[in-house]
Amino acid sequence: MGKIAINIATGSIQQSETIVGIDLGTTNSLIAIVRHDTKKAIALREIDGLTLVPSVVHFDHFGNPSVGVSAAEKMISDPQNTIYSVKRLMGKSYKDVASETNQFSYKVIDDNSDSLVKIQVGERFYSPIDLSSLILKELKARAEHILKTPVNKAVITVPAYFNDTQRQATRDAGKLAGLDVLRIVNEPTAASLAYGMGLKADEEKTIAVYDLGGGTFDLSILHIHNGICEVLATNGDTYLGGDDFDQAIVKHWIQELNFPSLNNAQAKLRLAAERAKKQLSESDFFEEKTSEYTLSLSRAQLETIASPLIQRSLDCCRNALNDAQLSINNIDEVVMVGGSTRLYLVKEKVKQFFGKDRLYDNLNPDEVVALGAAIQADILAGNNTEMLLLDVTPLSLGIETMGGLMDVLIPRNSKIPNKAGRQYTTQIDGQSSMRISVFQGERDLVKDNRALATLNLSGIPGMPAGLPKVEVSFLIDADGILKVSAKELRSGVEQSIEISPKYGLTDEQMEAMLLDSLSNAKEDMQARALVEASTEAQQMLDTVNRFLQKNGSLLQAEENQTTQNQMNILKEALESKDKNLIQTETEKLNEITRPYAERLMDAALTEAMKGKKIL
Ligand code: ADP
Ligand code: MG
Repeated sequence: MGKIAINIATGSIQQSETIVGIDLGTTNSLIAIVRHDTKKAIALREIDGLTLVPSVVHFDHFGNPSVGVSAAEKMISDPQNTIYSVKRLMGKSYKDVASETNQFSYKVIDDNSDSLVKIQVGERFYSPIDLSSLILKELKARAEHILKTPVNKAVITVPAYFNDTQRQATRDAGKLAGLDVLRIVNEPTAASLAYGMGLKADEEKTIAVYDLGGGTFDLSILHIHNGICEVLATNGDTYLGGDDFDQAIVKHWIQELNFPSLNNAQAKLRLAAERAKKQLSESDFFEEKTSEYTLSLSRAQLETIASPLIQRSLDCCRNALNDAQLSINNIDEVVMVGGSTRLYLVKEKVKQFFGKDRLYDNLNPDEVVALGAAIQADILAGNNTEMLLLDVTPLSLGIETMGGLMDVLIPRNSKIPNKAGRQYTTQIDGQSSMRISVFQGERDLVKDNRALATLNLSGIPGMPAGLPKVEVSFLIDADGILKVSAKELRSGVEQSIEISPKYGLTDEQMEAMLLDSLSNAKEDMQARALVEASTEAQQMLDTVNRFLQKNGSLLQAEENQTTQNQMNILKEALESKDKNLIQTETEKLNEITRPYAERLMDAALTEAMKGKKIL
């Protein structure tokens, strides 16, 4: 396919729109944009000058939430109603976090199941998605206030080790906050991007990203090549960060000053410890006097306290290198991220460990992830004229499935060469052949995409519907030639075909197809939802029909009547093409027939027991 510059936004609806970048952090969150005039990424700053919004939600007596600095102040006075570190719970079940819940001052509900955790505040229950969405809403509102324009689209960052559920949860939180989440980007990738890494086509680098935040430490090793960023390894400690430095300072003061009663003082000491720590990255000595005591700390003392904690982070670095089977010499650059890397000793030790004279640390470490997200957003908005030149598939490739839907096997912008496969099955009993139609494009219905080829897999031995396993594989070689093959795995029958997807398509036509998909995205979603609901309804009708034919005798006349009635209602709903109606009526039919299945099992069991003795 060669090198293709895709500028999906030229003259499009998106051109003047600002897409924001959001760092949704465990401790702090913030929002950044690329300025239209200077083309520079900046973190959005309120009149108070602050860019960071503490990732804390407080609920008052009436259940009204507040987010940010005011909420963080409630952590001491009203801990049960103040939710912090919710990111630790994203996409997790109670089982996942059972061992950690004693770390939280708020109530994490134990339903001892695989379902996702809930947090109880007063009488109400919140999911981590709800709570994150409140933080995102606050960021969105701030941005709208500062920019004086609606903000509807965002790029949000997540740790590189987040799994699909955690990423989906983050997306959902964005959606709940009224944001169209265009992309989820890895935090270390965003940080590297903020330093301009990965923007040049011919650049190849291996980068270590050292991220020491408030409560967590993450080390990621990235390989950037041809504008594609691959995560080679991640390591870290989910309980190592600035908070541990603060606690260690408190412990030091308690020993030094011989504090008698601690309960009340401890929270105040913790805040003083954080002030001390921050001040010591600018001066050599910290002192604070109250009527009762004087707190002091020198930089040398802080470094002695911090040293073992920093050492723990370096152990993680060592492990990550081992996992990636790399040595320190393989690391070209080290990027520093997170507020705690402001500590002078952290920088020194990291330099020593990686044997570097300099680190990438001149951007603000607690803003750098958001800045990178903003740059990614700007690229997606098409404002970045130095578009990436990638060896990628310009349009998605997929096949037609039930109801004329496009099932994408290789998404647009996948690097080539590339390979993907998926299993399909037959719809009809005894079906002996299967037509595989290959399409290219971004629309949800194949009729709106470009047909590339059709492959006929025949000779499938007679089997009941759903039993054959047909593996369809796509393989794109380095020249961009697509090879599609289909194989029925039980019998081994196979067919394949070669296609040149780029053939006959100009860049302009390709761009037009992309624009088309953007402007039709909403209708496509509605069309897809309708097709899916209709397919499900039809399958339900078929199943019930088959059941009635075979096992009608198990039902009483009245039940039979109710079932028939509901089937007719559902058929009418199908005609109406009203997705919600179809779903409601499908669910009703499902409700009515659910007990029959159990009865069928009982009957089968009774039958099987006849003439057999059970001891
Ligand atoms: P997260 O990514 O976990 O949300 P941040 O990157 O915002 O966290 O880092 C927050 C941590 O950085 C806090 O523990 C804070 O005390 C610490 N921090 C901020 N400024 C400094 C400083 N000047 N020196 C040392 N630590 C700092
Ligand atoms: Mg962070």
